[in-house]
Amino acid sequence: MYDVKVDEDKCVGCGECVEICPVDVYEIVDEKSIPVNAEECLGCESCLEVCEEEAITVTEI
Ligand code: SF4
Ligand code: SF4
Repeated sequence: MYDVKVDEDKCVGCGECVEICPVDVYEIVDEKSIPVNAEECLGCESCLEVCEEEAITVTEI
């Protein structure tokens, strides 16, 4: 399992993480990305690669 966090202060709501995540972990709510399905995370790190703001942290738990 993975813990997925988005730093709201860094996130600009671009939606790149929503587009790239194969298991729909993220939703944009009020122009911020929220990891609503973190329990589905595969740890592929695709979201880390596309987030130019480096707002995302994925940690194996
Ligand atoms: S890719 Fe980064 S900046 Fe863009 S919505 Fe996702 S977390 Fe926010
Ligand atoms: S690591 Fe992969 S599966 Fe997990 S949230 Fe990011 S894109 Fe989605």
